[in-house]
Amino acid sequence: MKVYVTRQIPQIGIDKLKQYHDVDVNWDSVGLSRDQFSAKFQEYDAIVTVLSDRIDRDLLSRADHIKVLANYAVGYDNIDLQAATEYRIPVTNTPGVLTESTAELAWTLMFAVARQVPKAEAFARAGRFEGWGRSLLMFLGDDLSHKTLGVVGAGRIGSAFARMSRGFDMKILFTANSPKPELEKKLNARQTDLEELLTQSDFVSLHCPLTPKTHHLINEKALQLMKKSAYLINTARGPVVDELALIDALKTGEIAGAGLDVYEWEPKIPEELRALDNVVLLPHIGSATVATRNRMAEMAADNVLAALRGEKPPNCLNPDIYS
Ligand code: NAP
Repeated sequence: MKVYVTRQIPQIGIDKLKQYHDVDVNWDSVGLSRDQFSAKFQEYDAIVTVLSDRIDRDLLSRADHIKVLANYAVGYDNIDLQAATEYRIPVTNTPGVLTESTAELAWTLMFAVARQVPKAEAFARAGRFEGWGRSLLMFLGDDLSHKTLGVVGAGRIGSAFARMSRGFDMKILFTANSPKPELEKKLNARQTDLEELLTQSDFVSLHCPLTPKTHHLINEKALQLMKKSAYLINTARGPVVDELALIDALKTGEIAGAGLDVYEWEPKIPEELRALDNVVLLPHIGSATVATRNRMAEMAADNVLAALRGEKPPNCLNPDIYS
């Protein structure tokens, strides 16, 4: 059968698919247009998608012969899952294998913004370090140890992220959709509502999926609830934060800073945000380690191979279509 991969993914996944099927890959750095997508949907039996591919109801309505859409990501907000289910198209994702890598990146952002790492590194690299003196006062930052850590969305990544705080003796608060008494015990943490978490935390890290309910979960009001000394970390999805409200909060000192891996209008990062020096900006690299990306590619390939054998793929997000 014919498989289309919409962006370059690690070769290990492509090779796995090639053992059984004809595989074409979009090697361009630009994604497909709607018309190109429509054409691929007619031509191929399975598509490996990435999170920047917007697969909406209209596209799905013309793709009912597609045997699987294998998203190369754990988040699947880019695909209209309900419509895919109605058209009986299995959709898969890559849960679990990117948990630690993404949690570690949230920690990277937290350290980077609280200790002004990018600014200090640029200073040293520019040859401006002339020894201890007044010039170094601009790099005074904040400690993480003994502070309160607020985890919004204590799922796989959120709880791994919280677990990693152990060495820093932090107080942990978290939110989730459902009560998690076991997790409270395991993490020595307390589940709260969002308002309490925002008012009490020194670091607020977002780990919930993007859904209609979490769209702009962090808006102007939420940012006002945060301490002026607090930092916001977002490795979840850009639209969970109202980015214009965040820019205002960073400019006015409503919060101390932010560490961002994802953006509301990704890949566009507003100039106003890029101009601020109390924010650390990364280009959506949460899962970007060699080992993790390889595992994601293999997982996406395994999902495609199972679906093309007529089996339910291991990471099927809409298993009801098989019943
Ligand atoms: P997960 O295990 O499904 O965890 C999501 C958690 O969010 C769950 O605990 C869920 O609560 C909670 N949640 C859902 N709606 C919520 C709400 N309105 N308020 C508070 N919590 C809410 O997913 P995961 O594997 O940890 O991944 C989380 C997200 O990270 C993905 O969806 C993706 O968008 C993002 N991500 C980003 C990168 C990156 O490169 N930056 C990499 C990987 C993942 P319940 O447990 O009660 O349902």
